[in-house]
Amino acid sequence: MSEEMYDVVVMGGGAGGIPAAIRSAQLGGKVAIVESGDLGGHCMNRGCIPFGHMMRASRIIKSLTLGREMGLNAPGISINYPALIRRQEDLISFMRQGVRTALRKNQIKLIEGRGRIGGKGTLEVDGNKVLFKKLIIATGAQWRKPLLSGPDLEGVVNTDFLLITQTPPQRVLLFGESSFLIEIAQFLARLGSQVILATTEKSLLSRESKTIASRLRKVLREEGIDIRTHAAIEKVTKKEDGITVARAGEAAASGEAAAEEVVADALVTLERAADLAGIGVKNIGLDEAASCLAINEKTETAAEGVYAIGDITAPSDQQYSHRAAHMGIVAAENAMGKKASFNPGALIRVLFTHPEVASIGLTPKEARAKGHEIAVGAAPLAMNALGMILAENEGIVEVVADRAYGEILGVHIIGTAASEMIGGACMAIQLEATLNDLAHIPFPHPTLSESLAEAARDALGNPIYLP
Ligand SMILES: Cc1cc2nc3c(=O)[nH]c(=O)nc-3n(C[C@H](O)[C@H](O)[C@H](O)COP(=O)(O)OP(=O)(O)OC[C@H]3O[C@@H](n4cnc5c(N)ncnc54)[C@H](O)[C@@H]3O)c2cc1C
Repeated sequence: MSEEMYDVVVMGGGAGGIPAAIRSAQLGGKVAIVESGDLGGHCMNRGCIPFGHMMRASRIIKSLTLGREMGLNAPGISINYPALIRRQEDLISFMRQGVRTALRKNQIKLIEGRGRIGGKGTLEVDGNKVLFKKLIIATGAQWRKPLLSGPDLEGVVNTDFLLITQTPPQRVLLFGESSFLIEIAQFLARLGSQVILATTEKSLLSRESKTIASRLRKVLREEGIDIRTHAAIEKVTKKEDGITVARAGEAAASGEAAAEEVVADALVTLERAADLAGIGVKNIGLDEAASCLAINEKTETAAEGVYAIGDITAPSDQQYSHRAAHMGIVAAENAMGKKASFNPGALIRVLFTHPEVASIGLTPKEARAKGHEIAVGAAPLAMNALGMILAENEGIVEVVADRAYGEILGVHIIGTAASEMIGGACMAIQLEATLNDLAHIPFPHPTLSESLAEAARDALGNPIYLP
């Protein structure tokens, strides 16, 4: 390969890298994208899309209960797991093909191979040199082995396992802090597995609004998921009837952790972190020992002309595809001489459980800790017309605002379509809307989004439909 010079080289063709490359090309750049694995990255191939597909299936299973209440008596359903996996594989290969077409259409050179930064202006791809004026690093996060005794045992797996197995494990222990494990716990439980969901944290979704987290916990417990907090795994051993996990269980009231053994067919973990040494950031003067790449609001790193986006810049609780994609567009625009920035405070956190959880901005506790005097309003979906139709008993919209000017600081939702509703809340925060603005939006009826306006009215002290 000749040493070709590009205006922009994007390293990593995943959720962030693809929009970064396309936007750079739209702005007239000569662009190359370097990808060592499957185009589409973790999100499309092993994250958002396959697990999003599974969560839709699990929602259909649950909706049969509501259907029965409505007088729709479908006979018992059977679950064909290989057929489910086949459908999502077909879908993913269709999407991957779509990405290839988009790259071709935008005249972006696809270089298949593993990239490593050689020095200023140079990327080495499997022994060949690719020269760049601007580099956008979008290599995502890589799997980390859990620090357990016996992690190489058969049965100790990460979430990729669920995409290749022909049968879901009957007894499963999901262990870790990633909120995506909560989705998977619900999916497996609805498929009939016995599920233990164990987190080292003091509570499930500990950084989210208490109102939301406690409602989700109730739903999961009612579905038979055994939730353990303050958990720690001490030893994993293989036995005839599965793997045995010796662990400290939920801390007792005294603070003493009870020793306990769990027998499971699979121990599933989800721990992903940036691999900075592997991509050679040291060769451009960046710290390879950091946990992720430091950037400013323009997505610039400390190395001139080098931008970084997505999971390689994110602590584990901020690893989201939409964050990566948005940053990709910002990085491309800056690399091509425009001025763009991203607002880390407007990151949507989302969970595709049923009911869904979606939040943006500050919780009441965080807002108080930042010195705000706050007004909080809440509209339970059980008081919303569509919420009643859908039996949204645990659903609620909570709005947190600054009391002085009414500026909206945070919105927290649990309920069907929370992931869609939160888009409106994100726009409100981006545009620095006030409670009064939100309270006067004529949302369509009957929809759950009407509760956004009602929660704002509640914070103002004049709810219309709440008792
Ligand atoms: C089980 C699970 C479920 C998830 N569900 C969701 C969800 O519902 N919603 C959501 O927003 N997020 C979800 N995520 C997170 C989401 O997958 C990531 O945040 C997102 O993929 C990050 O995008 P990225 O571009 O930074 O990295 P990626 O999408 O992982 O892309 C990085 C790309 O870089 C390539 N690469 C790596 N090193 C090199 C190299 N040296 N040279 C060339 N190429 C390289 C990789 O092969 C990969 O294709 C989920 C994650 C998991 C694990």
